[in-house]
Amino acid sequence: MWKERLMELIGEENVIVKDSAIDRLSKDFYWYSPILFEELKDKVADCAVVPKTIDELTKIIRFAVKNRVPLTPRGAGTGNYGQGIPLNGGIILDLTKLNQIVQINEKDVRVQAGVKLGLLEKTLRKEGKELRIYPSTFMKSTVGGFLCGGSGGIGSIRWGNLWDGNVLEVTILTVEEKPQLLTIKDEEVLDYIHNYGTTGILVEAVLPIESRTEWSQYIMSFDTFHEAVMFSDELSRDEAITKRLVSVCEWPIPSHFQQLKKYLVEDKSIVMLEITEDAEGRMKELSEKYGGEQSFYIPASKYHKGLKVSDFTWNHATLWAHKHGENMTYLQARFDTEKVLEQMRRIREVFGYEVQFHFEYIKIEGNVTPTSLPVVIYKSKERLYEIIEFFEEVGVTVNNPHTYLLGFGGYNLRMEKITSLKEKNDPYDLLNRGKIPKEVNVKLAK
Ligand code: FAD
Repeated sequence: MWKERLMELIGEENVIVKDSAIDRLSKDFYWYSPILFEELKDKVADCAVVPKTIDELTKIIRFAVKNRVPLTPRGAGTGNYGQGIPLNGGIILDLTKLNQIVQINEKDVRVQAGVKLGLLEKTLRKEGKELRIYPSTFMKSTVGGFLCGGSGGIGSIRWGNLWDGNVLEVTILTVEEKPQLLTIKDEEVLDYIHNYGTTGILVEAVLPIESRTEWSQYIMSFDTFHEAVMFSDELSRDEAITKRLVSVCEWPIPSHFQQLKKYLVEDKSIVMLEITEDAEGRMKELSEKYGGEQSFYIPASKYHKGLKVSDFTWNHATLWAHKHGENMTYLQARFDTEKVLEQMRRIREVFGYEVQFHFEYIKIEGNVTPTSLPVVIYKSKERLYEIIEFFEEVGVTVNNPHTYLLGFGGYNLRMEKITSLKEKNDPYDLLNRGKIPKEVNVKLAK
């Protein structure tokens, strides 16, 4: 049996076989989706390994190729689409010990894939620098996991998402008899972003960095969600206000934010902000215009020390809602900047509070865009797809988070290029097998 041979090769103590550990390492946050939960709950790897060097990793790859054993790369396992769950057993490659910050330069940082983004941001801030973008899971999640499984997050209102020049270079290890280390730069980098690690193992990356900025955090409350959205929209476009985060949640979503309960007002929609202290006056002028009031404030001196507003933004908002009721799930959507209020009105008319609005303002190709992670009260798969279809009918683009198939989620991936890289870099289809669909042109995985 190949597992025994693997133990002989790298040492019994280096192969994790305990059921509870393998089960944990085989899972991510796929249970956000009741559909993915049913499809993936029984999927587990045969074992897991935690290589500490690229040489150790290469040895394991050679073994897997020789024995045709499937490999699934893993960072912190916080992905939401089951993209890190092995569909065909095999070996989990836990890459969290490839965790060196290799070099901090004036304008960029070179890091290994397993570095936690939270530690990276903390280290950079000590050096007078900071990351451009990171997900709300940054305290746990890794550089490799974010680049291969994520999209954007805190900072995206200023710098866009991963595809907007926020990854300068990646080093990829191929899965062949003789694994190669490929240095990928410029346009080619796009083929390795959000690819679920299907076309190579990302071992190193170069990310652009910026000078450290002092960020203050605010929560502003509004009587209606419309006012909160209009405020956020105007603030997001106001170049005089330097910002890192603009996140809007309609009531009752904030009612689930346990740690903020004593600050928030019943029935009010909230906007969570990270802006520079000198922008406070302008921000408050705008807030007054839409009837907003300050509910919470964390000064820049306490940034990332203790409570953070980002813990309630992006997919953390869904997590808090899910804690409240397990039938809470979500969608990922992009509203039309010009028609957002009308689109919301039509959705509310048909689905009432079965769909609860949550927006994250970001820049896409330089344009301010209200992306959305609406909380949805789950009734059935059919009903969920009815909601998705209605969103599309009113012109809202949906990136379906209820599929583990790459390309079906609706991100603008270069699937043809990814498919050809798969054949080249992983000729035996061992890497995260089953995540690239046979037909890449089908829109929804129903
Ligand atoms: P994992 O889940 O371990 O892996 C993600 C994918 O990448 C998997 O397919 C895995 O096989 C592959 N992979 C991992 N490492 C490598 C590697 N070195 N080489 C090749 N493939 C690899 N995402 C966002 O983009 N923005 C957010 O703001 C955000 N907020 C979230 C909030 C919550 C509460 C949760 C649960 C999730 C959120 N996510 C968000 C999704 C996820 O947390 C992030 O994308 C995160 O960066 C993933 O990192 P990870 O280390 O956990 O990756």
